[in-house]
Amino acid sequence: MKTLATLALLVAVGQAQQPPDHPSITFAGHTYTPRSIVERNMRTEADQTSQFPPHKIIANIYYVGTKTLSSFLIVTPQGNILLDSTYERNVRTIEKSVKQLGFKFSDVKILLGNHAHGDHQEGDALVKELTGAQVMAMAEDVPALEAIKPAGKKHPIDKVLHDGESVTLGGTTLVAHLTAGHTRGCTTWTTTAQEAGKTYNVVFGCSLRAPTPITPAISAEFERSSKAARALPCDIQLGDHPAEYAMEEKYAKLKPGTPNPFIDAASCRREVDLEEAMFHAILNESPQPKAAR
Ligand SMILES: [Zn+2]
Repeated sequence: MKTLATLALLVAVGQAQQPPDHPSITFAGHTYTPRSIVERNMRTEADQTSQFPPHKIIANIYYVGTKTLSSFLIVTPQGNILLDSTYERNVRTIEKSVKQLGFKFSDVKILLGNHAHGDHQEGDALVKELTGAQVMAMAEDVPALEAIKPAGKKHPIDKVLHDGESVTLGGTTLVAHLTAGHTRGCTTWTTTAQEAGKTYNVVFGCSLRAPTPITPAISAEFERSSKAARALPCDIQLGDHPAEYAMEEKYAKLKPGTPNPFIDAASCRREVDLEEAMFHAILNESPQPKAAR
């Protein structure tokens, strides 16, 4: 029985409704339901708030998040960019990870977000308070971000971004791609990184997990976003939840003198394929009312 775990999870995600346990699809040898995908992403409350060993992914890109909530640090000579504050109660853990990597938290100059849900951006106000970072957000996510107010704190937004706009600091440029559906302003970030004389495309994917119910507007957004996500050149796939890119398995393979496990173009489309299959399974199921069982 996982009733309690599921309940804790729902409180954590802030969803009024628990994701349904149907339809069920088989993908790459695993069975998934909308609920099992949320459980895969979030796991337990302890996993959401426990530090994962901070590590270098490639070049100037580092992981500073918890076991199941991603936060990325992009280091430049003119200060650093943080992508995702996660829950406010995780901000001190992220700060600790940044310090363990040898950087200063106060060097965070820009705070970006993946999407306007509390598990990814609730800590924005505290990060700004501690670092003075400029907070930038995709226009379509602004209303949802403004509604995230831990202990009544106003959500900081210093700059509003639009689809295709880029953010540059100290020679590193990140491009914001609107991949709406999960939230209206769900943002996939891309950049490039150099290692051993080669340039790699890095994709920080936004969740493509469909909310319920799927309205016609959300459906249209997803069709567009799946196409947009597939069209992005990708050698290194990252995501708002580590499970989306098999972080733990890849991290376990990190060894000096061996190929970087995060360079894995083959995994770039896996999450899009999974979420698209689930999206279509939900759509196939919902228009036909089921006979009473
Ligand atoms: Zn979300």
